[in-house]
Order: sequence, then structure tokens, then C-alpha cells
Amino acid sequence: MSAFNYFKENVSRAADLLALGEAERGAFLKPDRVLKADLAVPLDDGGSATFPAYRIQFNNARGPYKGGIRFHPDADEDEVEALAAMMAVKCAVVGIPLGGAKGGIAVDPKKLSRAEIHRLSRAYVRAFAEHLGPDIDIPAPDVYTTPEIMAVMLDEYERITGRSAPGMITGKPLSVGGSEGRDTTSVVAFADSKGTLQSARGLDVEVVLAAKEAKGSVRGMYCDGSVCDAERLAKDGAEILEGGAVISAKADIFVPAALEEQVTGENADSVSAGIVLEIANGPVTPEADALLAARGVAVIPDVLANAGGVTVSYFEWIQNRTGERWTRPDVETKMRAVMRNAYREVADFAGERGVTLRQAAYALALRRITDAMEARGRV
Ligand code: GLU
Repeated sequence: MSAFNYFKENVSRAADLLALGEAERGAFLKPDRVLKADLAVPLDDGGSATFPAYRIQFNNARGPYKGGIRFHPDADEDEVEALAAMMAVKCAVVGIPLGGAKGGIAVDPKKLSRAEIHRLSRAYVRAFAEHLGPDIDIPAPDVYTTPEIMAVMLDEYERITGRSAPGMITGKPLSVGGSEGRDTTSVVAFADSKGTLQSARGLDVEVVLAAKEAKGSVRGMYCDGSVCDAERLAKDGAEILEGGAVISAKADIFVPAALEEQVTGENADSVSAGIVLEIANGPVTPEADALLAARGVAVIPDVLANAGGVTVSYFEWIQNRTGERWTRPDVETKMRAVMRNAYREVADFAGERGVTLRQAAYALALRRITDAMEARGRV
């Protein structure tokens, strides 16, 4: 099933819970604007390549469009539309006054040089500049996009418009108006597309990340290509397994943190953790969701679990617009308050109605968005 169909399923369950009419469901499920462009980029070898790019502005009833831009070979209109819609839900779940959008470029960034990535980033902004801005649509990082890319995009936008506009994009480096605390992630699972690194004794996050950075994968901590250091592995009580093995790792919490559709009807029963924390967008399919719920595994849904990123994007945008600079403890305290409050509201609703946390989060968000659409006379 397509990513947007998964989203529609979640919305339809939430709409049933709220007894919403067809008009409200229909109005919410239609994106406001689908922008597409083919970006022609000069390559370092003198040639050029063209990459399909998207920006989908889903809903702005609660505030300007907000959402990241991903660089990934699989980015397509359906995926970007689903992710844009989820941003609208996410901002509504945590109650920040922003709408939902998402961008994507179908590209394998690992095949491009740094200069080529910069040119591609600038081309993206040139293609969509008239639809972006601090009061219109505010991008941010997503899969394979970084603070460095945000700074380059800001630079291109300011060059085109001729004015300073740090609030047009978030997730920037601190030196160009980024916020403290936007980069905080708690990493508790160590697997990537090349393998799983597991140790019952626990692994040092910083050390694993440094190995990944230097060698391109978490396996790199113990392996050089296909040859792994058995002695060091045994000494540290660690094992190298294939990438998918992380799903069945013995742990309290399983954190799928990269791409969508990783836990499916096929492998949901091998999840051994009691809690699945969705740091990726859409990592658990609806079929897997039902299997996990039947086994009593709590899934903390993406639109709640990973909303800390866009919440700090919101703080970055406020700071850019007021000229204030907040300290990291300020940001963390404010973010904790937003996230705790959102979790409490979602958990209370789930408890009262006897539904899953995902159904509760979607229902709360849908109510907030349709209330705003109704107040504006859009439905
Ligand atoms: N790409 C992140 C997400 O999916 C952040 C979006 C933002 O900060 O605007 O939530």
C-alpha cells in the first residue's frame, strides 16, 4: 500500500472516533499545493544531471506550512505527500501554531560531492523560492539533509529575495541563527542498512557514532569490509548481525529511527521490546500496528514521538523573528514541557476511549485542524 494510503487509514480511524462528517474528512485529505520541478545540476566532471524535486504544502489552517526536505533515491510524490500530511498532524499533536509540508529530491546524496550537493540545494530553493518564506512555508532537515544544507538554502533564498530571512528555514547551524537544542537526539539502537551492532553490556553512543562517521557503518566499529575482529567483539561481549536483526534485539524499547515501512506484517511478531518509539516517520505499517497492539506492545506514534524536532524548529523560528537567543537549558525546558503535555493529552485520550496512542494522537490532531478549518470557513 502507498504511504499516503497508510496515512488515510489513520485519519479515517481518527475521523470515526470523532464522528467527523465526509466534508471535513475530504477537506483535510486534500493537499493545498503540490509543487514539482526537475532540477538540472552541473556535475564536477563537467556533465550535468537532472533530479525530480517536490514540495508539497498540505495544510496551513493552524499556521505557516512546516516540514523537512529529504534527499533520498526513493523520494516520490506519494511519499512526500504522506510526510507533508503527517507534519500537519504532528504540529497539531504538540499544539504548535504551524501547518504541514514536506519536500524531497529523488537523489542518492552518497553519489554526489559536497559541491554538487550545494548546487542541488540551491537549485531546489530557486525552483520553489516564491512559495517559501518565514510566513509561508518553512523547511528543515530530514533524511540525508543537514544543518550545512539548511545554511546553503538560506543563503540562496536571501540572495534571491535580497533580504535577511533566517526564519525561512530551521535546523540551521548556530552561526547563522540556528537554535540550541535542535540537534538533540537520544540514540538507543545501533543498526543501519549495512548491519546491526549489538552488545548486551551496552554500547558507547559517541564511540559507535564516531565509527559510523569514519567507516560508513556501525559495523565499522569492529569490521574492516567483511572481516570483523572476533577477539575484540568477544572481549566487549558484542556481536555483528544483519541489519534487520535489530528488530528482534532483546530490549525494553525499540527505536526505528530512519525510514518508513520497516516493521511490517511479516516481521512484527519478531519485535521483542515492549515499547516501539517511532523516531522515523511511518516505520510501522498499519498491519504491523494491529499485530503489535494485539500483543500489548505500546507504539508511541511518530507524530508524537519525533515531534521534538519540529517543536525546536518552532523555537528557532520564534528566536529568528524576535531576535532573541535562548540557551540550551531554556530550549530543553520549553521542549520538555511541550512534549510532556502532548504525551499526557494523547495518553489521557487513549485511556478514556480505549484506543491506541496513534489513534488518540490522530484524533486530537484532526480535531484541532478541522476546528481551525471550520473557523476559517474552509469546510
Ligand atoms: N524533518 C523533521 C520531521 O519530520 C523536522 C521537521 C521540521 O523541523 O520542520 O519532523
